[in-house]
Amino acid sequence: MNQLMKAGSILIVDDSPVNIRMLVSALKSTYRVRVANGGLKALAIAESDDPPDIILLDVRMPEVDGYEVCRRLKRNPGTMQIPIIFVTTRGSSEDEAFGLNLGAVDYISKPFSIPVVKARVRAHLQLKRRTDKLESLAMIDGLTGIANRRSFDQTIEQEWRRAQRTNTHLSLIMIDIDEFKAYNDNYGHGAGDECLRLVAGAIESLMRRPGDFVGRYGGEEFVVLLPECDLEGALEMAEKIRLKIKDLKIPHIFSKVTDHITVSLGCKSMQYESGTACTQLLQKADQALYLAKEQGRDRVVASNL
Ligand code: GH3
Ligand code: MG
Ligand code: MG
Repeated sequence: MNQLMKAGSILIVDDSPVNIRMLVSALKSTYRVRVANGGLKALAIAESDDPPDIILLDVRMPEVDGYEVCRRLKRNPGTMQIPIIFVTTRGSSEDEAFGLNLGAVDYISKPFSIPVVKARVRAHLQLKRRTDKLESLAMIDGLTGIANRRSFDQTIEQEWRRAQRTNTHLSLIMIDIDEFKAYNDNYGHGAGDECLRLVAGAIESLMRRPGDFVGRYGGEEFVVLLPECDLEGALEMAEKIRLKIKDLKIPHIFSKVTDHITVSLGCKSMQYESGTACTQLLQKADQALYLAKEQGRDRVVASNL
């Protein structure tokens, strides 16, 4: 099969030449296969201009082991979306849970069966392709199930025009999880993802009016748009969100704020004036969020600009 027509590109990482040979011979007719005999080489390939679509990752390797490779890949926004399957002799359910909590999509025990490896690789590549495609077409964020950035960009424009027509206020709350890097680094990327889902669900559960909008703005940042709502109303909602997320009591002993997950929030409310664009609403809410971080996090700050 022509290289360009192959069904995807796989990186096999293992320090044992025997394992590498077995996996390569099983997969090379269907996929473009690259190999790395150690963690550092694996990271170099994954972080290159030509990253793989999926990684089969051995756990036990000298120097940088598979768990550490997984951690580093999940920490880097450029590589965090690449699905990782651990292939390892450490087959206890604790090991498996540990690997999955680091953000791996699957776990295969050695000695492995070639048909099972092939079937799982195929399934995960298909799933990844579907998720990417749906996310690019749809308005939904694949991880949390709430509206995505594209949806927000469209909605804020629409609501801004509506605020102009109806001569009403439009309010924006920007929300950012505190100390989330430390959460990911210590509890693992899988736990980080679960935390993002819980926070998204908590915010969404507080929306009351049909026009209220919640979206994931990026990474660990969320946005709430409240049409026909002035600053006072927005501050009230922001405080409810702050408390609701605190009440989830998601443990985070590595946070400098307190021992559970908290958020910082910036609010801005604007009425249409000729010549003002809705991007100003975003800028001011973002500045207020920055102040909330600076003043110690776990708080709501209103833009007074
Ligand atoms: P601050 O209190 O100032 O907001 O600090 P922070 O650590 O929350 O902020 P920073 O921007 O340094 O780190 C954000 C982290 O969010 C880094 C990245 O690993 C993590 N992150 C971004 N997107 C995702 C994701 O989709 N899943 C997971 N698990 N983590 C993510
Ligand atoms: Mg952030
Ligand atoms: Mg943050």
